[in-house]
Amino acid sequence: MGRGFLLVVSGPSGVGKNRLIEELRRRLPDVRYSVSATTRRPRPGEVHGVDYYFLSDEEFTRWIEEHRFLEWAEYCGRRYGTPLPFIQEALARGETVALDVETKGAQNIRARVPEAVLVFVIPPSLAELHHRLRGRGTDPEDIIRERLKGALEELQKMKDYDYVILNDSLETAASALEAIVRAERCRVERSDYHTWLETIRGEAEELEANASSRGDDSRVHHRSAAHRGVTGKGGQPLHAGGGGGQTSSPAGEPGSAPGQPGREEAGEHCAGGDRERSHQV
Ligand code: ADP
Ligand code: 5GP
Repeated sequence: MGRGFLLVVSGPSGVGKNRLIEELRRRLPDVRYSVSATTRRPRPGEVHGVDYYFLSDEEFTRWIEEHRFLEWAEYCGRRYGTPLPFIQEALARGETVALDVETKGAQNIRARVPEAVLVFVIPPSLAELHHRLRGRGTDPEDIIRERLKGALEELQKMKDYDYVILNDSLETAASALEAIVRAERCRVERSDYHTWLETIRGEAEELEANASSRGDDSRVHHRSAAHRGVTGKGGQPLHAGGGGGQTSSPAGEPGSAPGQPGREEAGEHCAGGDRERSHQV
């Protein structure tokens, strides 16, 4: 498993952050959700420990004093915070953790965890946002108005994010979020490429040793194979992002599996030096 990361999802209240994260977790069940703490009252149907940890003002203050938050912020007169221990444990296990956090909290997370991935969700229009807040049926009209008022200010913060998703069709928006997670998981710095390279080096050495014990002819052959294996298919360096490695082949494609010799033409291209030497030997 590669390294874990925080997927911070922000956007105006009612835009659909919760629904989107829910849909993401249906598609990628190994994505974890960070349950926040809040001083706001539970809405009908909300469960302590599942939707939020519902704390009194005193409890929330104590959690702050005990450094139990990764970040916390005030939103519409209530406090919200991300409990730290869950995040630490999940990241240590290499997991992806989704968080629903307003914009100040997102910036605080970025400052403490620079590699966090920040996604901003926007509504098709303010009218639709109003419609969704009303349709959710969880907040009285004065709270809805307060949240709508804050929406414009929140939308200005979009530029500080890595990605923006328009939540018009839930299906399309969830696909975009899923694509972001899948792509972020493929980042070289989050992969176990060091370990993988070590394995390949070991394999190459083994091939070399076998070749030596069989004599010069086969040695030449195996040296080429090893070379092709180390450089990867099409002569691409194994560390993605290197020159010419912009389109690494999917595993399973003939000749592209880690450590396997590349296609013949790839061998000709990348192991040409070896080939020539083989004729000279
Ligand atoms: P947030 O977490 O951003 O406050 P919610 O996830 O609670 O928002 O969504 C607010 C309301 O909008 C919910 O009733 C939800 O079912 C609805 N909703 C979410 N996404 C869409 C969408 N793409 N189209 C229509 N309704 C949506
Ligand atoms: P709601 O009351 O609608 O559940 O959430 C209100 C706002 O609080 C949303 O914008 C949501 O993103 C934000 N929020 C929820 N949990 C946290 C948290 O742990 N930290 C911060 N900073 N904001 C949060």
